[in-house]
Amino acid sequence: VNTVTHLPAPEFRAGGTDLTERRRSGVSTGPVVDIGHRPELSRLQRADDGGLRIGALVTLAQVAADAEVRAGYPGLAAAAGGLATPQIRRVATVGGSLLQRNRCWYYRNPHTDCVKKTGTHCPARDGNHLYHVVFDLGPCVAPHPSTVGAALLAHDATVKVVGTGEGATVRRLPVAEVFGDGRDGRHDHTLAPDDLLVGVRLPAPAAGERAAYFRAISRAYAEWPLVEAVVRLVVDDGVVSLAAVAVGGVAPVPLRLPAVEAALRGRPVTAEVLDAAAGHAADGATPLPMTGYKVPLLTGTVRHTLGLAAGLSDG
Ligand SMILES: Cc1cc2nc3c(=O)[nH]c(=O)nc-3n(C[C@H](O)[C@H](O)[C@H](O)COP(=O)(O)OP(=O)(O)OC[C@H]3O[C@@H](n4cnc5c(N)ncnc54)[C@H](O)[C@@H]3O)c2cc1C
Repeated sequence: VNTVTHLPAPEFRAGGTDLTERRRSGVSTGPVVDIGHRPELSRLQRADDGGLRIGALVTLAQVAADAEVRAGYPGLAAAAGGLATPQIRRVATVGGSLLQRNRCWYYRNPHTDCVKKTGTHCPARDGNHLYHVVFDLGPCVAPHPSTVGAALLAHDATVKVVGTGEGATVRRLPVAEVFGDGRDGRHDHTLAPDDLLVGVRLPAPAAGERAAYFRAISRAYAEWPLVEAVVRLVVDDGVVSLAAVAVGGVAPVPLRLPAVEAALRGRPVTAEVLDAAAGHAADGATPLPMTGYKVPLLTGTVRHTLGLAAGLSDG
């Protein structure tokens, strides 16, 4: 028997803040390839088209503090600076934050099988799913954990991926394709095990953009949110010309909310318009027995974040 062919595919380690915990608990047992010290993946620089390139190994603290990110991509800066703890943000990388594995307690328990391991059944579905999805899109009901994923979705970012296996290829894909539509359920992202995420590219900033990030959370610190929202708005002569709204914590993938965006575009920035737009946040929601509470939480979180971005004093 050639035992080498039976080894699980290697897993890259960037900052290691997610991977190390799965190694410690025994959920990740295969070989590890350390990519943490590659200067070519650690750059944050302006692109020729006025956009921004962010290397996969740039840390979340760097993203949150960078003057160009804060000026041109305030939603991303706020999201990167608002998650986890200062210690985690100092080590965690952009690539790792997109490709981190989900937080479901059944998935993280080395003694429990599930659709994201070798099983065909999601134990959270008929077990404890208090923190899980309200958009039941596939066999796994764990919410996607990536805050930066939601922010990059709102910014229409693309990623560059290099296959490191045989016949290595370079691909560019929209960040939405990194997550897929949640219907598969077996993975937290669509990249192959030997795909190296090289970096992220953001389009040129939208002039006059206002943005906000807000998370509804069961404790104030060091926890994934129950629901989170990133809102980007451009307002010309009092009328919304650009609206991008993305949410996390509610679906197996970060989600854009097109019905909310459509209810904002071309309309004046008033409390009534924001109320009406937020009223579409949970369109199509299919909550689980224990996650019904997230439906009003989602609507409220989106409404509050819209208010923050619009600069209305009551949020
Ligand atoms: C207390 C606490 C609270 C947290 N709260 C939040 C939160 O609210 N929102 C949130 O989004 N995150 C949160 N996190 C998670 C944290 O953001 C992630 O652990 C971190 O972003 C992962 O980045 P990393 O560089 O450490 O990844 P690693 O642990 O090194 O890797 C994570 C995964 O990504 C893969 N990977 C990493 N880089 C690449 C690459 N370049 N190419 C291909 N694959 C790669 C690895 O193989 C691994 O599977 C929290 C963490 C803690 C401990």
